[in-house]
Amino acid sequence: MGGGTPVSIQSMLTEPLNNVTAALKQTENLHKAGCEIIRVAVPSNAVLPTLKIFASESPMPVVADIHFDGRLAIKAIEAGCHKIRINPGNLQNPETLTELAALAKERSVPIRVGVNSGSVAPRKGIRPEKIDPVTLLIDTVARGIQMLTDLNFNDIVVSAKCHYVFSTIATYRRLAGMFPYPLHLGVTAAGGLRQAVIKHALAFGVLLAEGIGDTLRVSITGDPIEEVRAGWDILRALNLRKRGAVVVSCPTCGRTAVPLDKITAEVETTLEALVTDVGEDKWPDSIRTVAVMGCVVNGPGEAAAADIGAAFEKTTAVIFRKGEIIERVPVDDAVQRLVALVEEAIDASR
Ligand code: SF4
Repeated sequence: MGGGTPVSIQSMLTEPLNNVTAALKQTENLHKAGCEIIRVAVPSNAVLPTLKIFASESPMPVVADIHFDGRLAIKAIEAGCHKIRINPGNLQNPETLTELAALAKERSVPIRVGVNSGSVAPRKGIRPEKIDPVTLLIDTVARGIQMLTDLNFNDIVVSAKCHYVFSTIATYRRLAGMFPYPLHLGVTAAGGLRQAVIKHALAFGVLLAEGIGDTLRVSITGDPIEEVRAGWDILRALNLRKRGAVVVSCPTCGRTAVPLDKITAEVETTLEALVTDVGEDKWPDSIRTVAVMGCVVNGPGEAAAADIGAAFEKTTAVIFRKGEIIERVPVDDAVQRLVALVEEAIDASR
């Protein structure tokens, strides 16, 4: 993470750790969807036995999210977790902090100093209303970093999450100029699917376009699979990462004679299953954009930049490659024909 490596995608487990089978199943599904780092809540000593099993069997690195008690961070490292996320407010005991920093250093476990706008603390003698929220967030992060660097611990990741797009952009811009540590991008309490995706896409889009951010989590109230999908969509839209093919489709109009929304959804689902099966490393670079267009008159031309595509009439569809029509098939066969072209390209690139 950091140092020019590709921006990685994280999510957080919603299954409680006390059901380790369900937790591992959810982790496996998130990994298949493209999740690269998984965070789990470690709320008490009670989950430590299952945390150990989980950390050893997870298909991706495990981040322990520590609540309230810094000693749990030490126990999470002993249980095999690969990274710790902790709020500096939970690291006030000097002995615990010293022990944690020493153990994390010995095991090469990074620590994320993770602050949310709801958990900031002004310095003694300063009234919170006298300091702007972004400065308050950064001040809290700075003190957390200082606590670790004073102990000669530097394997640090930083996050400072707030609710608002402009505050998020302002906060991370300042952090990027202040510290040499990798930045974990996030927006806290962002809402349900649509609201959350819009906020994250706006904030992350600006920051990532400026080269700010090393890893990210899209926080959505709902299925974490959607967090992973949204993370990929943001990175793919910015040309920062590749995964399978992006499906482009027209908005439809009076010329459209087929249910293009359903066909588009079917193409997306089928291609997503295909990249999960074959793996991004075996995906052919010749198929990065697949078009689904609502008419034959304008579809192939409007989607000329797509690698392959289908444009639909009432009973037949034309299949095209880079805007050139290569065949005509019945409407019901069009999706399968597109998929067959992708599979041929996968076979040819092996
Ligand atoms: Fe309408 Fe055809 Fe354009 Fe789709 S591609 S919006 S159906 S004109």
